[in-house]
Amino acid sequence: MNSLHARHRSVLPDWLALYYDDPIEITHGEGRYVWDADGRRYLDFFGGILTTMTAHALPEVTKAVAEQAGRIVHSSTLYLNRPMVELAERIATLSGIPDARVFFTTSGTEANDAALLLATTYRRSNQILAMRNSYHGRSFSTVGVTGNRTWSPTGLSPLQTLYVHGAVRSRGPFAGLTDERFTEAAVADLEDLLGQTRSGVAALIAEPVQGVGGFTSPPDGLYAAFRRVLDRHGILWISDEVQTGWGRTGDHFWGWQAHAQAGPPDLLTFAKGIGNGMAIGGVVARAEIMNCLDANSISTFGGSPVTMAAGLANLGYLLDHDLQGNARRVGGLLIERLRAAAAGVDTVREVRGRGLMIGIELADPVTGRAAPEAASAVLEAAREGGLLIGKGGGHDTSALRVAPPLSLTVAEAEEGAAILEQALRSL
Ligand code: PMP
Repeated sequence: MNSLHARHRSVLPDWLALYYDDPIEITHGEGRYVWDADGRRYLDFFGGILTTMTAHALPEVTKAVAEQAGRIVHSSTLYLNRPMVELAERIATLSGIPDARVFFTTSGTEANDAALLLATTYRRSNQILAMRNSYHGRSFSTVGVTGNRTWSPTGLSPLQTLYVHGAVRSRGPFAGLTDERFTEAAVADLEDLLGQTRSGVAALIAEPVQGVGGFTSPPDGLYAAFRRVLDRHGILWISDEVQTGWGRTGDHFWGWQAHAQAGPPDLLTFAKGIGNGMAIGGVVARAEIMNCLDANSISTFGGSPVTMAAGLANLGYLLDHDLQGNARRVGGLLIERLRAAAAGVDTVREVRGRGLMIGIELADPVTGRAAPEAASAVLEAAREGGLLIGKGGGHDTSALRVAPPLSLTVAEAEEGAAILEQALRSL
């Protein structure tokens, strides 16, 4: 064990997950590459989700952060804060939510926690619908709506959560159905669940594409169909866009737009990539919902001028360079390339995804059971080859996750696909 690893182990919690048998210390990055403490370079096919939405060490963001840090860092919602107002204006417009208000936090967890506070207060109910296999954060309230057992360490949440089928297609009672039949079955199941529930559910919280759950998504339009049911009961829809926002899925700027017939969600949460590594999260909601709180509620660091400056520079770069279009084009090539790479590997059950959010599900070819050891082995082999990827999935963690920064080039997509092909073939 290297000494930093030993020190990490002795002072940080055991449950703080670390990748790799011999974990990497990343010391710097540039573009789509990062370097470790031994000077080894890796192509980063996971940092896009971990926070680096556009590119590592993007000069525009670095400059904006340095300039703002040199002027004033002081963060308080008690004074006017120009970068915060400007970023809120941009996000409110982009969100698609009419009469939108934005509340900034410092993480996705805190954003979802705020959304749950708003929805439960607005609806005067602590009943929440959440999707099976979901992940929404690590706080007491958000673990209470996290269906993925691997990431939900307690069942003692004060929320009453009902878990809904429909986010995962490869297993569960509706596996194997066509899009149309799957949607019909999931809607019938939701109606049945609500029929058996005391009235007054506050909200449905859902990731349009499940992130930690292994990049799984329902048929397009499923949440639109759900919404028709929710509307009859007055139940709000919270779209957790922490992983799917800002064009990552290529075809859409937000994940909810794959269900656009539903119109925008009532509440939308974001985090991770918008700050390109700086701590920004937030919730967007119609004014009527946002303003339902009858007491003050602030976040000391939410909206800090330095993180807001990073967000403005990063968002400006993303829009000016059409990185959503890049995610669609390069992501389209990459998924084709990965499907071809996986064709001869019998452990690969499925290559799925959209834009630069691609999942590779691994299963035992004989028993059909999830293959978490194979996923870990591919992660290690890819690292050996100079490529960082992620993993995820349900309780079994058997999906590989590919989510590079959105500025990925075609040449880099080819390079990463070749390394991943080697890693898959080493199984
Ligand atoms: N929601 C989703 C969909 C996420 O993927 C995550 C982080 N993996 C969170 C919420 C929580 O975000 P954070 O880690 O910033 O608290």
